[in-house]
Amino acid sequence: MIEIRKIESSRLPSTDFSALEFGKAFSDHMLICEFKNGQWGQATILPYQDLNYPLSLHALHYGQAAFEGMKAYRQIDGGIALFRPEMNYERLNRSAVRLAMPEVPKEVFMEGLKSLIDIDREWVPKEEGMSLYIRPFLFSSSSFIAARPSESYTFAIITSPVGPYYTGNVKVKIEEQYTRSAAGGIGFTKAAGNYGGAFYPTRKAVEKGYTQIIWTDHKDHRLIEESGTMNIMFRIGGTMRTPPLSERILAGITRDSILTLLRSWGEIVEERPITVDEVVYAAENNYLEEAFGMGTAAVVSPISTIGFRERDFEVPNSSEGIAMKIKNALNEIRTGKVADKNGWMLRL
Ligand SMILES: *Cc1c(COP(=O)(O)O)cnc(C)c1O
Repeated sequence: MIEIRKIESSRLPSTDFSALEFGKAFSDHMLICEFKNGQWGQATILPYQDLNYPLSLHALHYGQAAFEGMKAYRQIDGGIALFRPEMNYERLNRSAVRLAMPEVPKEVFMEGLKSLIDIDREWVPKEEGMSLYIRPFLFSSSSFIAARPSESYTFAIITSPVGPYYTGNVKVKIEEQYTRSAAGGIGFTKAAGNYGGAFYPTRKAVEKGYTQIIWTDHKDHRLIEESGTMNIMFRIGGTMRTPPLSERILAGITRDSILTLLRSWGEIVEERPITVDEVVYAAENNYLEEAFGMGTAAVVSPISTIGFRERDFEVPNSSEGIAMKIKNALNEIRTGKVADKNGWMLRL
């Protein structure tokens, strides 16, 4: 069903796994499937290569483009497994629908993904903390510059071996001017443009000495939404709190998995609107116990400082904390070190 054209000689021997920059090295193969004349064509795995597109490429002008981010993990017994890949499949198609793009057929995504990772299985790193980052994406590939939906689309998957993601001290600024996402908008999708729109405000925060932005609601900036490109969780007075999903918040698979783990550990977990005031008040009164971002790249990214207006609040951030406990627990499930009680892993 998937057509396969293999490379003649692998680039693996000339790739230095000890010096990988996130997302800059790509494995030997990629998958491509094109949608034309109202239907999906043959899915093909071929050598990783540049493709030729004209400058009238629709996606460049009108931004019908969305992506996914997931990982393949080397197992303790030497095998390879994916983490909840059907969640990525479903989310890509939710993005596709909202951006007026055709949905990718399930067998193209799932069978294509499995075959691609299997062919490049030597690219799944064996070193502790490393994994193969997988980037499925879908973009409009007609060549015309009229402002209407494209007629052709390309679905592709590329993969990149990556090291552990050290974020260092994460200083986040509560953003009160710019907005990542609005009611009725595309914040719940992994649309390329959501990132394009976030770079400038993030750069302004970086210029002020922060690493990331805590996004607040578009209306009056009183509700906490996400942290950079991650979902956000707080531990306040012994309770775990995260904003509820909405059309403005991306439904993170890491977030969903962490909520499941926390509940199974008997933690009190609240999914409800969180105000900037309650976080600042908790920080001022020393009962903001932890704060962290949740996402595929870093798993959890503990926040060390929260900046609000002219003040900076330090957040406790201990290696004994719940963030680290979650990170270790997820890593153990993903590498097959503990039983996969929730049926999250798909072995290849
Ligand atoms: C991708 C993403 C996340 C995290 O999603 P995961 O499925 O956990 O990787 C959170 N927020 C935004 C805005 C994202 O783009």
